[in-house]
Amino acid sequence: MKRIYLDNAAATPVSALAQKAVAETSKKFFGNPSAIHKEGKEARTSLESARAMVAEALAARPDEIIFTSGATEANNMAFMGVVQSAGIRGLARPHIVISAIEHPSVLETVRALERYGMRVDYLPVDSRGLIDTKELRKLITPETVLVSVMYANNEIGTIEPITDIAREVRHARKMNSSAYPYFHTDASQAANYLDMNVLRLGVDLMTISSGKTYGPRGVGALFVKRGVEMSPLMYGGEHEAGRRPGTESVALATGFATALAEARKMSVKESKRVAKLRDALAAKVLKKISGSSVNGDLARSLPNILNISFEGVESEALVLYLDAAGIAVSGKSACKSSSEGPSHVILAIDKAGNGEAGAIRFSLGRETKSEDVTRVANEVIRLVPLLRTMQENSN
Ligand code: PMP
Repeated sequence: MKRIYLDNAAATPVSALAQKAVAETSKKFFGNPSAIHKEGKEARTSLESARAMVAEALAARPDEIIFTSGATEANNMAFMGVVQSAGIRGLARPHIVISAIEHPSVLETVRALERYGMRVDYLPVDSRGLIDTKELRKLITPETVLVSVMYANNEIGTIEPITDIAREVRHARKMNSSAYPYFHTDASQAANYLDMNVLRLGVDLMTISSGKTYGPRGVGALFVKRGVEMSPLMYGGEHEAGRRPGTESVALATGFATALAEARKMSVKESKRVAKLRDALAAKVLKKISGSSVNGDLARSLPNILNISFEGVESEALVLYLDAAGIAVSGKSACKSSSEGPSHVILAIDKAGNGEAGAIRFSLGRETKSEDVTRVANEVIRLVPLLRTMQENSN
C-alpha cells in the first residue's frame, strides 16, 4: 500500500536537487573554509555562494545570514544573544514580549531566561490564533529589548500580522528614542508559501529551517539585520563573523540554499495548489463527521496546514490507526488526562467545548496529490466513528 505523508510541517522530504547539492558539495568542497590553501579557499567560495543564495531568497545581505544547526539553535541564538548583549550595554533587567503560541524552542528559551530574572510578557491570541497589535502596544516598555512573534504557527497554521507588528515595534523605538526593542520572527513554517522579503516584513531577526523547506536536516539560519547587537551563543573560532563558532558544513549550507531557492521559485503555484487540496479535505471531513471543527481559521492560515478537533476521540489513537492505514499525520493530545497535557496552542485559542477533543494536524506538501486527500478523508471518516465507539465502550 502506498504511504501518504501528511506531516510536512514536522519534516519535509529532501528534494532531489538538494540531495544532489549535498552529495556533490561534500565530495568536491571538503576543505576547511577557514584554511588559506586552495582546498580551503574553494570551500569558502562554495559556502559564501550558499550564503548569498539564502540572502537573496530573503532580500537580505549575505553578511546578515548566520548558518546554524536549525531553527532551534537560531531561536536560542536570537533570544540569548540579544538579551546578553543588552545586559552588556547596561540594561539592568531587560524585558521580552512573545506570543503565547510560540514553538517550544522559543517558549523554553524564554522560560530559561525567566529563571535568570528576565521579565517576559506573553501576548494572548484570539480564537483564530491571532495576536492583537493593540495588546502588543500595551505590553512594550522602555526596558523591552525583544518582541518575538512567529510568522506562521506550526500546529494550526495561523499567519500572524508581521508587518503590523513591525510597525508597532518601530513606533515603540521612536517613542523611546532607542534601538530597542528588536523584532524577531520564527519563520520556520513560512518559507515554502509566504513572502520572505525581510525588508517588506520589517523584521530585525528571522529564523528559518532547512528541514521544513525540502532541504537537508541539521542546518538552518538566522537573519540578523546589520546593526543589531547580538552576543554569540557559543565561543570558539572566528567562524560566521565570530557569531557562531565551529567549522561550517559547506555541504549542508549548499543543500539548504538550493532547497530554499527551489521552494521560493514554486511558492505561489504550490500555495494555490495545496490550499485547494486542504480545503477539499476540510470540506469532506467536516461535512461527514459531526463534532469535528477546524482549529484556527483557514482564511488566515498557511495553505498546507489543517488542524481539526474530533470530539470523543483521542488524537494519539487516531494518529496510530491512520498510520496503520498507511497515512502519516500528527496529533497533539488535547486530552487533559494525557500525561503530556493539552497543546498550549489549542489551549491558547480557547475554543469553548473543544478543549477535551483530540486535535489532528494534517500538513500537506509538494508530494500531496488529489487522490491522496480523497483516501485520507475516507479513512478519517471510517476511523472516527469506530474510535468513538471504542472510547464509549471503555468508559
Ligand atoms: N520553530 C517552528 C515554528 C517549528 O515548526 C520548528 C520545528 N517543528 C522549529 C522551530 C524547530 O526547528 P528545528 O528542528 O530546525 O530546530
